Amino acid sequence: MSDLLDLYQEVILDHNKRPRNFGALESPDREATGYNPLCGDQLVLDVALDGDGGAIKDIRFRGSGCAISKASASLMTEAVKGKTIAESEKLFERFHELLTGDPSVRGEAGAELGKLAVFEGVREFPVRVKCATLAWHTLQAALEKAEAPATTE
Ligand code: ZN
Repeated sequence: MSDLLDLYQEVILDHNKRPRNFGALESPDREATGYNPLCGDQLVLDVALDGDGGAIKDIRFRGSGCAISKASASLMTEAVKGKTIAESEKLFERFHELLTGDPSVRGEAGAELGKLAVFEGVREFPVRVKCATLAWHTLQAALEKAEAPATTE
């Protein structure tokens, strides 16, 4: 189990150091900002949708925050790129279950999450759960064309 935790930590540190899909899109279809006041994490998310608006063609993020929020945004963008909006929403549900749900059912959620399962350890630290879910709340705001910035509160 500790080997697994080391591996998880390595993935998080790697994505914090070299975030994937970092930056801005030239002409995003959607843009949203997210803020986690408890930790001070903030990010801006740019989303480009495909022709009929049903799928995420491209996605980028920028901002500043703790290692968990940054790694989570990086892994989230990798996970949802190319997915339909419905698939992305389902993934967020699973991710949320992994972090806050009943531990006895998380095996099922974990299987669908792939690399996102590295955040499993975060469930032991409720304050950190907000860092890990900020990017997802921001994605939701972008897809729903929310007027107000996403917040973890
Ligand atoms: Zn944070």
